[in-house]
Amino acid sequence: MTVLDVVVWPAKVLETKASDVTVFDDAFRKFVADMHETMKASGGIGLAANQVGDLRRVLTIEIPFGDNRYEEGEVEEETREWWHNKKFTFVNPVITKKAGKMKYQEGCLSFPEIYDFVDRASEVWIEAKDEFGKTFEIHATGLMAVCLQHEIDHIDGIVFINRMSRLKNNMIRKKIMRRGQLSTPEPV
Ligand SMILES: [Zn+2]
Repeated sequence: MTVLDVVVWPAKVLETKASDVTVFDDAFRKFVADMHETMKASGGIGLAANQVGDLRRVLTIEIPFGDNRYEEGEVEEETREWWHNKKFTFVNPVITKKAGKMKYQEGCLSFPEIYDFVDRASEVWIEAKDEFGKTFEIHATGLMAVCLQHEIDHIDGIVFINRMSRLKNNMIRKKIMRRGQLSTPEPV
């Protein structure tokens, strides 16, 4: 397996809508395995294909038990859910239903050092295919639901700062652009 390079914003591929996967062959499954490897190596709990520069509708998720640290308000003792410590691959995922509301302090491998609260549904129902093209459905809650919404946004070309207030979105964009300028080497 190969650890791929994670693309950081403002790369254009992060704000480009991805296309459905139509070919489920060994090369595709190798790519999915590389995505899992990349996600793990980068310390992420979710990864969308456009974050490694690929415009296919694929995402990987693996949420370790004990990672639920950023929920707003009273943090209850975390309960072990069925989706903890499991490797998930979602190909061409569609949200068929949403319910409830929650706020979670999200981070993103494509936005190093940016963490902020985003409004999300607390429950989602998803229909997707696995890496062999087989259709499955899941009902996700809590952090799994947040992660799915964040990653499905990615393949729609929506980055999480676009889900924040306009003011905050602009502030973060400017901050990153400024940081980019600062890290540009001085001409000699
Ligand atoms: Zn992200």
